[in-house]
Amino acid sequence: MSLKIRRKFYNTVKFKITLWHSLLFASASVVVFFIVYYALSASMMKRTDEELSAYFKEFEHSIKWNTSKNNSIEFIEDEFINEANDEGANRVLFILVSPQGEILASSDLKAWKGITKKPKILLKFVNKEIYNTLYFSTERGDDVRIYSKPFDGTNTLIIGKSLTKEQLLLEIYCVVFISVFGFLLILGSVFGWLIARHAMSGVNRVTETAIAIENGDFTRKVPIGREGEEIKHLVIAFNSMIEKIQSLIFELKEVSDNIAHDLRTPLTRIRGLLDVTINSNPCSEDYQEMAEGIAEECDRLVQIINTMLEITQTDSGVLAMPKHNVDIIGIVKKAYDLFLPLAEDKSIDFQFSVPAQQIILNCDELRLQRVISNILDNAIKYNQSNGKIFLSVHQEANNIIIIVKDTGCGISEGDQRHIFERFYRCDSSRSKPGNGLGLSLAKSIIKAHNGSITVESSLNSGSEFRIILPYAS
Ligand code: ADP
Repeated sequence: MSLKIRRKFYNTVKFKITLWHSLLFASASVVVFFIVYYALSASMMKRTDEELSAYFKEFEHSIKWNTSKNNSIEFIEDEFINEANDEGANRVLFILVSPQGEILASSDLKAWKGITKKPKILLKFVNKEIYNTLYFSTERGDDVRIYSKPFDGTNTLIIGKSLTKEQLLLEIYCVVFISVFGFLLILGSVFGWLIARHAMSGVNRVTETAIAIENGDFTRKVPIGREGEEIKHLVIAFNSMIEKIQSLIFELKEVSDNIAHDLRTPLTRIRGLLDVTINSNPCSEDYQEMAEGIAEECDRLVQIINTMLEITQTDSGVLAMPKHNVDIIGIVKKAYDLFLPLAEDKSIDFQFSVPAQQIILNCDELRLQRVISNILDNAIKYNQSNGKIFLSVHQEANNIIIIVKDTGCGISEGDQRHIFERFYRCDSSRSKPGNGLGLSLAKSIIKAHNGSITVESSLNSGSEFRIILPYAS
């Protein structure tokens, strides 16, 4: 493994999770080890102390009895030796010492060279009740627990017990614990690594897909795995982001196609105006006419470009939409007042019905006005003279519903599917002024208010546009 790859490996989340997991396990194990070790040795020490004190009681009774019978000290020594031999002369030790530290009677001390060589070590027990551990490691290779207690106000009985068994038990505990710990640490690290690898596989899939997309494959999606909720949410969010990017790219392509197609018309007209004027021996009036024509076409172009921009920005959420609480009835009434003269010019019977009370809606007032104006403009434009338009507003559950119904030329079923697309114009309407962007913009604005706009129409019998705005918004 090269140094660079190794460094990268150390930086992976998988490695870090495994490392932390193992470190945590190791520290917890060390703490458990010491707690158990301490508890085990303390309990063994307590048991040993209880045994020593039981010995003391036994001999206290026997020594008293021997003393009362005026038996010689040999009797007591015999009892010490017998008792020590029963247990193992190198396991227990009984010594009776005078107040001056002189050994009066004892069990067999052959195996207790530390004491026979340096009897002075017994002095610290004379006339005292003490539990103590003597380290005989150099002489005997083990520790000895000693209990001493003054006896009858004169002599002191010292009882010792080798801790070999206990030490061996603790050693076995250490060996077993370390072996099990080592095994579990390796097993835990392997499992930790596998779990981390499984958890990160979702992230790897996202990375692979992101790289594929970066290389131009926009059809790729990240499959949802079974790594857990967080990864599932990441995958879902990533896929929906890709979908959004795909639809934006598609829209961008559509817009550029539309631009190419629809801007060509006014530009061709400008070009035509220029050609006709230049090739017709123009006088200043011709130039004046040409300039006016070009200005008109330029205005159209600017309007188309602005509307297109507004639609794209509204759809992508880039456009700030200042929303305030406004009375929707007021907005509709204003639109009615604005379009009534136009309707009257065409002898259209324009009727209007709204609830008496205000309906306050949190919305972008100007843009909503624009939506209603576009629909009313169409209702007049595509209506015949003496036709009818009915504008109404009402509330239904949590929705505000605005309806514009006309008796115009109507829209075929095939066209109804497309009229909300950019630049779409029904063949029958091409003779009328327009650019095919009004309904697209209306749809974008209504969508930005979480609402919907639909049409019901049939050819030659009029259309009904229905705007639904959720009231809670
Ligand atoms: P335009 O500028 O052409 O009116 P719109 O986006 O407002 O663009 O409308 C798209 C097309 O839908 C129109 O060209 C027309 O064919 C059709 N349309 C819209 N409203 C009506 C209506 N009330 N009656 C008949 N056709 C309509």
